Amino acid sequence: MINYDVIVIGAGPAGATAAAILAESDINALLIEKEKLPRPKICGGAVSKRALSLLAAADILLPELKTFKKCRSMQLGTFDFESIEDLATIKFENEAAYLTDRAEFDYALVQNAITKGAELKQNLMVTNIKKENSQFIIYGADFSAKSKYLLCADGVNGTSAILLGFRDKWNDDEVGLCIESSITDYEPPPSPLNFYFGGVKWGYAWFFDKGDHASIGTGTVLKEASNLRRLFNYFVMRSRYTNTRSTENLKLNAWRIPATGGISGNIATGNALLLGDAAGLVDPFLGEGIPYAIQSGKIAADCVIKNNVGDYRKKIEEEITGDLKYARILVKIVKLDPKRFIKLLANDSTIARDYVKIVLGDSTYRQFLKNTFKKLIF
Ligand SMILES: Cc1cc2nc3c(=O)[nH]c(=O)nc-3n(C[C@H](O)[C@H](O)[C@H](O)COP(=O)(O)OP(=O)(O)OC[C@H]3O[C@@H](n4cnc5c(N)ncnc54)[C@H](O)[C@@H]3O)c2cc1C
Repeated sequence: MINYDVIVIGAGPAGATAAAILAESDINALLIEKEKLPRPKICGGAVSKRALSLLAAADILLPELKTFKKCRSMQLGTFDFESIEDLATIKFENEAAYLTDRAEFDYALVQNAITKGAELKQNLMVTNIKKENSQFIIYGADFSAKSKYLLCADGVNGTSAILLGFRDKWNDDEVGLCIESSITDYEPPPSPLNFYFGGVKWGYAWFFDKGDHASIGTGTVLKEASNLRRLFNYFVMRSRYTNTRSTENLKLNAWRIPATGGISGNIATGNALLLGDAAGLVDPFLGEGIPYAIQSGKIAADCVIKNNVGDYRKKIEEEITGDLKYARILVKIVKLDPKRFIKLLANDSTIARDYVKIVLGDSTYRQFLKNTFKKLIF
């Protein structure tokens, strides 16, 4: 059985970032992915400037991607079963985000890890994990390997967190369900990024124009998702940008997304660490998970390199979940009156600018609430 220093399960942004940083430090790392790469990933595909800055800080430079559309503004509005309204356009001074195809984006990150010396096994699903003395033994079809460290980056549906006893299955209020489709018959909206709040208690609907197609979808926490399909149909048929008057012929994708800004249980036991979606690291306000996947990949790799994985949980709290708690507060405030929140952003350029700073990676939810709390509440 081959022995590695580190095995990373899952080749999404979290796993690929960790594998690249480890390999660059000459650590013998195996990256295991159950799909054949490049693999599709159900996602809006919005990559914030914050995510790109985190990659740059980890010395990861993306090649030129075929799918990478600059976004210089975003439009915010409200939606429910009665109406869909575009209420505010927020212009960015520079590109605050890009729209990409996750198959291409994620594969570029994996190729970067391979170039730096990580070994990849694709088309191999990890089905069991055992601990023997101080080693982890990973099993897949006709395959087993050992390692001292185990980084679990197998996403929201991954099973390693359950196999290792970190958590049980997600509760219905800890995870969101999204319905998404790709459409080609539409009128390009003035802004590529369009977010609509209000129709769901947690989450929103989106219309992301990627140039040759648009990603359209909506999501909410599982326990409130009974109307989601109807709401999605309504949103698709009534959006002023779609020409589709029926959703019958659309190929629908459904996928889950962590909803609480970090799981409540442990994310590190001994030398096993949970990364990215597996640890619930998604912004509960915007549903953005790519930057936190990258950031947790870097923190995990750095902890392994410095031989201090005992600090992983603390660092994730300091750098990620400590601030996502404030994003949860923002979710609650916006839920009270989504229209009022969007109108505030439309009419008060300092609030809008403060919010965009978070997407840029130049500010935090804590700072945003500190600056705007009174205006948001009164
Ligand atoms: C509909 C939707 C839209 C979204 N839109 C955005 C957006 O626009 N911007 C944004 O920032 N975030 C978005 N997100 C969130 C984002 O997709 C995730 O947060 C991000 O992909 C997390 O990265 P990850 O590396 O942790 O996991 P993933 O990207 O999910 O990667 C996990 C990998 O592990 C593999 N795997 C799973 N089980 C095993 C196994 N047993 N053995 C081997 N491999 C395994 C999977 O095949 C997968 O490749 C969206 C999510 C959804 C559901």
